[in-house]
Amino acid sequence: MNNVYDLVVIGSGPGGYVSAIRASQLGLRTAIVEKYQKLGGTCLNVGCIPSKSLLDSSKYFSLAKNHYSSHGIFFEKLFFDFKKMMNRKNEIVKNINSGIKFLMKKNKIVLYQGIASFKTKNTLSIKEIKSLKEKQEIKFKYCIISTGSKPSCLPHLNFGNKIISSTEALSLNEIPNKLIIIGGGIIGLELGSIFNRLGSQITIIEVMDKIISNMDDSLSQEIRKILEKSSIQIETSLSIINIIEEKNKEISVFVKYKNGEEMKFSGDYCLLSIGRIPYTKNLGLENIGIKKDKKGFILVNDSLQSNIKNIYAIGDVIGGKMLAHKAEEEGLYAVEHMIGQKPNKLNYDLVPSVIYTYPEVASVGRTENEIKKEKMEYNVGTFPMKVLGRARTSGCTDGFLKMITHKKTDEILGVHIIGDHAADMIMEASVAMEFRSSSEDIYRICHPHPTFSESFKEAALLNFENRSIHM
Ligand code: FAD
Repeated sequence: MNNVYDLVVIGSGPGGYVSAIRASQLGLRTAIVEKYQKLGGTCLNVGCIPSKSLLDSSKYFSLAKNHYSSHGIFFEKLFFDFKKMMNRKNEIVKNINSGIKFLMKKNKIVLYQGIASFKTKNTLSIKEIKSLKEKQEIKFKYCIISTGSKPSCLPHLNFGNKIISSTEALSLNEIPNKLIIIGGGIIGLELGSIFNRLGSQITIIEVMDKIISNMDDSLSQEIRKILEKSSIQIETSLSIINIIEEKNKEISVFVKYKNGEEMKFSGDYCLLSIGRIPYTKNLGLENIGIKKDKKGFILVNDSLQSNIKNIYAIGDVIGGKMLAHKAEEEGLYAVEHMIGQKPNKLNYDLVPSVIYTYPEVASVGRTENEIKKEKMEYNVGTFPMKVLGRARTSGCTDGFLKMITHKKTDEILGVHIIGDHAADMIMEASVAMEFRSSSEDIYRICHPHPTFSESFKEAALLNFENRSIHM
């Protein structure tokens, strides 16, 4: 029958489309349902790719403005064309959109456009996005829910003209003179960096006592210094009292610090980057009794099955680290599990996190605070980037690589980096930790010179024998 599938995937984000490809490769008759015409989900359309495109464009401008002269490179007149920057970003997204469409076709995955909603535990109805009128019904043996997440808003507020989420921020027609960002997490820091480099005055407001509070403290302190050096104002340890949006006026954010002092910040826009919530609207989970937790995340077991065993859920909609690579890994796992293979479980402790500031921040494994809480004895080796020949040639000498190892076994427990190319460097740490390497293992591996990766070997030596070669 035409509309009967082994697997139907709901959502074409990185979790969804990767699952569909893997399923098809394994011989499953597969369909994917996506609400929007454009495939790729949050990551491609309003997340990873557009943000990295603008981060790169703005980085090149900022380097040209602030650093190239030290390389002996001068410009008569340096300027940027914001419209062109945005068009470039849109083109990149469009090209990858068609790339995913091509992959669907190549892998013979049937694509349905519309909102999928459960009728029974083996039937989905597909509805029109605007009218919610039913278009058709499809049947499946297995289903993967990969419907992702959407930006959280503050109570009693709505995203609108001046209160914006990352989605609107990535499509602004103008560069704000003043941008207030509520939330000093990954998205806040990345979007703040983009607009700071393009000339906006940025204030980041964070209720906790530090930014990127779930990463190692050393990273939080160092990136704060680096961002403040580039004139980003960072305010922490406060609560938001009120946000007032008035026509033709700047938006005002009223805060109260822990010491009782009150303050008002004004800007053209207030970007809320305070986290994301799971997206299950119109999915009809209640029709078949799929369970969610208190925050709305779909509950799954260790094998990523919901309480209805033929229906799996992956990616942002089940919570944990809301990252594209985590969604992809879960998708691969779910598909291999449903056909009876015994795939390796994703090691959630070793999902790397990256922030694409300049320099980049990247981290994998446990933070020093977590290790302290576990009352484990440990060593720490921190190697500053400025000592590296490669850092000096590139001109990016900020940051360090911090490695934490077990005092007795020497196993690497966590690696936390700030430095140019940290996003790519973190993979050496991930591989080492997946193979449960020790600092001695890393020290004894030949690292190419001159590279930023030498910091990994040097930090390993600090852990192993409390000495380094270049320091
Ligand atoms: P999504 O990508 O959200 O895809 C879900 C899809 O399901 C959407 O296309 C949606 O339209 C569709 N859908 C929902 N409901 C239905 C329905 N009922 N019927 C049919 N379709 C439906 N992660 C990283 O790893 N690296 C980064 O650099 C990074 N940068 C980011 C920057 C920003 C600004 C943001 C917002 C996020 C970023 N992320 C990043 C996070 C990343 O985008 C998400 O973790 C990832 O997209 C989650 O993938 P997913 O497949 O779970 O869901």
